[in-house]
Amino acid sequence: MFWFRRFREDRAFREAQRAGYELLLRLQAARPWPDCPEPTSQAPAAGEAVVPDFLPPELRVPSRQDVAGVMMRWLQPLVVDGEVRTCPECGAYRDWIVFCLSDDSIWLRCRASHETQEPGLDAAWFNRHSGPVDRFHPTLEEGLRYLGH
Ligand SMILES: [Zn+2]
Repeated sequence: MFWFRRFREDRAFREAQRAGYELLLRLQAARPWPDCPEPTSQAPAAGEAVVPDFLPPELRVPSRQDVAGVMMRWLQPLVVDGEVRTCPECGAYRDWIVFCLSDDSIWLRCRASHETQEPGLDAAWFNRHSGPVDRFHPTLEEGLRYLGH
């Protein structure tokens, strides 16, 4: 299983990054400043100048509040309280993506992208059945693609 970030926060981060980069381009275009000597060395790289603490996504470890939830693939039929769960919209009964959201609710998503909350399961169940977090995806869509949905 793995973490995925809240989509909106990820988008805000990218927008902030883009805004910072545009500011740097404007600064570079304005050179040389009238009362400054022409810089002799190269301008620093965009990432270093604008966001000194910027790291590539794979090096940023998400904290609990950055994370919208965790999810795992569940290929076999899912039995809750002795009953096999089926998708109320298409009748699928296997190959689920199981989500555990930050409010501890459990959601099932079938191959046809129908999502249903499963009140018979909780975060404790999810933690018992999922492995350790081994991947981190910036968006839900990327996570679903990785899981083959
Ligand atoms: Zn379905």
